[in-house]
Amino acid sequence: MPRLNYEPNRSKEKTPMPSLEPAYRATCFEEVALGYTEEDAINEARRCIQCPNSPCVEGCPVGVPIPSFVAQVAEGNFAEAFALVKDANALPAICGRVCPQETQCEGKCTRGRNGDPVGIGRLERFVADWAMEQGITSSEANSEEGVGAGSDAAAKTLAGKKVAVVGSGPASLTCAGELVKRGCEVTVYEALHKVGGVLSYGIPEFRLPKDLVAREVSALSDAGVTFEVNALVGKLYTIDELMEERGFDAVFVGTGAGLPSYLGIEGEAANGVMVANELLTRVNLMKAYLFPEYDTPVYAGKKCVVVGGGNVAMDAARTALRLGADTTIVYRRSMEEMPARAEEIHHAEEEGVNFQLLTNPTRILTNDAGWVTGIECVRMELGEPDASGRRRPVPVEGSEFVIDVDMVVIAVGSKTNPLIAQTTPGLDVTSRNLVVADEETCATSKPGVFAGGDTVIGAATVILAMGAGKRAAAGIEKYLTEQA
Ligand code: FAD
Ligand code: SF4
Repeated sequence: MPRLNYEPNRSKEKTPMPSLEPAYRATCFEEVALGYTEEDAINEARRCIQCPNSPCVEGCPVGVPIPSFVAQVAEGNFAEAFALVKDANALPAICGRVCPQETQCEGKCTRGRNGDPVGIGRLERFVADWAMEQGITSSEANSEEGVGAGSDAAAKTLAGKKVAVVGSGPASLTCAGELVKRGCEVTVYEALHKVGGVLSYGIPEFRLPKDLVAREVSALSDAGVTFEVNALVGKLYTIDELMEERGFDAVFVGTGAGLPSYLGIEGEAANGVMVANELLTRVNLMKAYLFPEYDTPVYAGKKCVVVGGGNVAMDAARTALRLGADTTIVYRRSMEEMPARAEEIHHAEEEGVNFQLLTNPTRILTNDAGWVTGIECVRMELGEPDASGRRRPVPVEGSEFVIDVDMVVIAVGSKTNPLIAQTTPGLDVTSRNLVVADEETCATSKPGVFAGGDTVIGAATVILAMGAGKRAAAGIEKYLTEQA
């Protein structure tokens, strides 16, 4: 083991995350995980053995120098730790909360071979929250006079250049932040009235407080990024217009994959049936849980079924529960195949969400007034593996049964909106309307147009979108300097 500057913590278990009691949190939208204290953070950081090959870093799409920042936490040097994290990751308070670390950095951590991996995500969140509480901003963290060793030294290679960023999710925010560091004039165009993409309209307040997203956005504004909201590109301006008439030298497309998929079964148009996007947008973006203080209402039933097994299904179920519905998740495979983060499944179970696994809806039942009264389902069993490598669920003949409900939420995936593809000649897209872009530079088939995040790879994760935003900024820098 390499020499450590601190007394190692040999515990096989992660330092527990202080959290709100399940019975209480199921009734409100307050953040569930409360975050480490300084003592917890030092304790957890000292579980890191500072592996010379640092496999954890390989698992991080934005290359956070994990052992170095964790060592600083272990020694109580939180400002230095923050500077190291912030230099690589523009949104650490967000990633520390929502990244699926178990399949990324923590999935590769050496300590995970014999016990829990180091709680890298929890430590990332701790340093970001600590810096926010101290009022330390990214520019201070990265300045020569500032608290840390981070480099803000990005040369102003793009001074005098103008780039338009379409969409304002994590891919776009990261790309905008990286470009503005290089001296570029950046304008972000967002279709909704609020910036942040899924971070603002999708992930609920109880997992990701919206004031954190607002703070990250305002840090970008302070750094010089201009935001234009209510600006649907493809309708208000096309990409060609942005480049030819509004003087942008390049465009980054980060429009996500926000178009919901449906089940395609009878009764789906009934009253009381909605897609998760609608429920979550009303509740998160429009603050419907505070109606009538905020003017958007939301329909909340007494008995709700949420169909799906991903993060979106889990967020929708926990939201419906908080609105007062007795909530059940219906998922066609088993718990093992559920794509949602393990921690979110665990939180949902603790709060009282029920699970009907190996179950698939076949029909939605309605009354004469067109309201949902039940959902007919069929039991499933797992057959041979399909193209994704997961065992294919097959219906068990004659096993149909009905769950009585007055609310159904569909959370079975989402697609990209075809608007950009339809209004941008020369932009290659796949049959599923995903924008075709180079993996390394994010360049598309249209000169000067770059793309990344969910709009390229389909619904994925915040950190993958951020990684793409970072690579795209480098791609744009190379393209614009070669053009000069
Ligand atoms: P998005 O975040 O989708 O942002 C795209 C933005 O572009 C949106 O604001 C949209 O309004 C805007 N836009 C679209 N078209 C136009 C246009 N024509 N003109 C202007 N603007 C436009 N990932 C995790 O890592 N961890 C999680 O816990 C997690 N939970 C999730 C929960 C929910 C409910 C959802 C929906 C997703 C979750 N994800 C999670 C996935 C993650 O949020 C996405 O992968 C990520 O946000 C993709 O980022 P993006 O920048 O590509 O696009
Ligand atoms: Fe520390 Fe785990 Fe990374 Fe090793 S793999 S350096 S133990 S965080």
